[in-house]
Amino acid sequence: MAATPSDDRKYRHQRERLADTLRERGITDGRVLSAIEAVPRHAFVDPALRDRAYADEALPIGLNQTISQPFTVAYQTSLLEVAPDDRILEVGTGSGYQSAVLCEMGARVFSVERHEDLLARARRLLNELGYDVRTRHGDGTKGWPAFAPYDGIVVTAGASDVPAPLLRQLREPSEEHPGGRLVIPVGGRGGQTMTRFARTGTGPHDYEREDFHSFRFVPLVGEHEENE
Ligand code: SAH
Repeated sequence: MAATPSDDRKYRHQRERLADTLRERGITDGRVLSAIEAVPRHAFVDPALRDRAYADEALPIGLNQTISQPFTVAYQTSLLEVAPDDRILEVGTGSGYQSAVLCEMGARVFSVERHEDLLARARRLLNELGYDVRTRHGDGTKGWPAFAPYDGIVVTAGASDVPAPLLRQLREPSEEHPGGRLVIPVGGRGGQTMTRFARTGTGPHDYEREDFHSFRFVPLVGEHEENE
């Protein structure tokens, strides 16, 4: 169904209001808010749910998965501290929305999804909208070694613990670049704490860990993961 110019205006207006809401809820990074204002979230949800696309809520995308709440996307993206041209790996492509937001921030985006049909749909849509995302069907708890190291890794499903391969695929700090950041909800099925690991050196224990707010994500399922 083609969008009419008046739909475009309506959605643009709704996106501006969404950015205002996110600002009120504590998102302060202007680049993140501009990216949210730029991505047509209504295209990433089921046509029957388009009226709710710019409410600050998670929505079903099939196969028991959800497109994350805009606040959560903005929160995780803020914690990643994305600089233009950063290489960012996303675990859990889902609808593709978070990938699109990262593209709008100027990142080079890599994204892994375990459900092949969700990935096929996301890939088609990202392509149609002109977002250049490299995607892969597979288990993201293993990361994506071929394109490592990453300046940022964002996990958009709830983990029971931190998959070790993801830490290893973060960039080591150098004169030109800060160390890579891993943003991951940790805590198992009942609820998770948003956690950020930043690589501080070259050794296996050179990571700084910070804990943030609580969230509830769909579970991360994979080899380097104990979720039942
Ligand atoms: N970032 C998505 C949110 C998707 S919900 C968006 O913007 O729409 C989380 C996604 O993680 C689901 O699609 C789920 O299938 C996927 N997932 C769970 N475990 C995974 C794993 N080990 N590797 C890759 N994807 C995984």
